[in-house]
Amino acid sequence: MRVKFWGVRGSLPSSLDTFGWIEHFEKLMNEFFDSGYKTKTDISAFIRTKPPAAVGGFGGATTCVEVTGDSKSIILDGGSGLKFLSDHLEKSGRLQTENEFHILMTHFHFDHILGLSFFAPHFLKGKKIHYYSVQTETEEIVKNLFKKPIFPVGFEHLNADIHFHTIEAYKKVNINGFDITPFKMDHPDPSYGFRVEKNNKVYAHAVDHEALRLTRDQLGLDSGLFEKADLLYFDAQYEEEDMSMKKGWGHGTCDRGFKVANTFGVQQILFAHHDPAFSIEDSWNHKKKAEASFAKNYAQSKLIWDFAFEGQVIEL
Ligand SMILES: [Zn+2]
Ligand SMILES: [Zn+2]
Repeated sequence: MRVKFWGVRGSLPSSLDTFGWIEHFEKLMNEFFDSGYKTKTDISAFIRTKPPAAVGGFGGATTCVEVTGDSKSIILDGGSGLKFLSDHLEKSGRLQTENEFHILMTHFHFDHILGLSFFAPHFLKGKKIHYYSVQTETEEIVKNLFKKPIFPVGFEHLNADIHFHTIEAYKKVNINGFDITPFKMDHPDPSYGFRVEKNNKVYAHAVDHEALRLTRDQLGLDSGLFEKADLLYFDAQYEEEDMSMKKGWGHGTCDRGFKVANTFGVQQILFAHHDPAFSIEDSWNHKKKAEASFAKNYAQSKLIWDFAFEGQVIEL
């Protein structure tokens, strides 16, 4: 199973502005010379010494994840990252050869539906798009996205054959060769996480989730989302010290992710739904705090963890 993260930002697409990028490039160029590099040919060596997110940032597009296995794929969430996936389909030629697309919706907050109108297969004859959600209003919501005056092309003019499927929480279904089970997240306006299983590997998609329930007892049936996941994609938009003010906003923290991952025997956790207010530096500071907390509380843990970045690929 291969998981690609096309969008990892939370709540609102958000990148540095022009002057923010100028400042960032200035800082990088200074580091280049301070590290003793001198010539044009040193540039790629310098870049390779740094993690991708230290050079390019964590990304500005909102949630969209593609899971691929045995040449089949599914898409989780239609945030603005879906535009990157759509562009990739066109450029790579996949759009010519693939005719069916499967999109699972966690919920309908703006940041999870923003990219849907820009997903090219909607406009093409011979393509089939399947939407899946626990909520029953997906059809109405998607139809409202393709409607004047919010969008110039009405749903009735889309050329693709579009189907809407309601799936049930806690009930495993097979979608394009993947076993999918939805679980309830701690989030306003119900949101569902998805456990995705294939070839004995498990990807657990857990945004948007405040993680108010952490133990097996508290989570009850929802424990099933996390149990022994090979990769858990976890909402860590906020920092623990801000949670008294942000309680009920529906987003979690790294500390909560560490706790869940250690309780349920998760192998690898990737923190995401990055705060739109965060600059690249803010996210690195957020990560430093998480490092300190992990070292202090989970010194013996073998958990692999990191912050997700746009375009990242993880093979399971
Ligand atoms: Zn969200
Ligand atoms: Zn949300």
